[in-house]
Amino acid sequence: MTLPAWIEWLLAILLFDAWTYYWHRINHRVPFLWRFHRVHHSDPHMDVTTANRFHTGEIVMSSILRIPLIILLGASIEQLALYELLMFAVVQFHHANISVSERWDRVLRLFIVTPYMHKVHHSRWQPETDSNYSSLLSIWDRLFRSFRINEKPGSLRLGLDEFDSPADQTIPGMLKTPAVKVKQPKEKKTHHP
Ligand SMILES: [Zn+2]
Ligand SMILES: [Zn+2]
Repeated sequence: MTLPAWIEWLLAILLFDAWTYYWHRINHRVPFLWRFHRVHHSDPHMDVTTANRFHTGEIVMSSILRIPLIILLGASIEQLALYELLMFAVVQFHHANISVSERWDRVLRLFIVTPYMHKVHHSRWQPETDSNYSSLLSIWDRLFRSFRINEKPGSLRLGLDEFDSPADQTIPGMLKTPAVKVKQPKEKKTHHP
């Protein structure tokens, strides 16, 4: 059975986004992957620069894993390019320090990941850090029960306790973040700050 082209494209976007959700989620779960991913979380201020703050190791690993995924899904490079474009736009949007009214955010987050939603993910309180893993469509967090909203986003404390020094925010500091031995394991931090 041949599906209409637009359904194939829609399915490809959905499957790529589901994979991105799952990949992000395992980056929080697997200690080795978290070492790289925590560079994205150690930023104490969330703005559009945070959208591009990923360790080279994480970028390399996710790019390598994309290759079997494309083959497995039978997707095309053009479909991946469209997905990347859409995801890039939404990722810049939800990290940007722009004011979206609570009402608009509420409407938009029915479909895509919004600033209110993603800010919770950058909270240094672990139950909030380990929520809202979606990148483009918000449906995955609702579907897999990781959706979380903080009614007072202004009160959120962003960053990571273990990487608060100015040295951690420099390029060399970020590059060596994966190698740093953290005294207090992330898994144990479940108290509210
Ligand atoms: Zn994350
Ligand atoms: Zn982020």
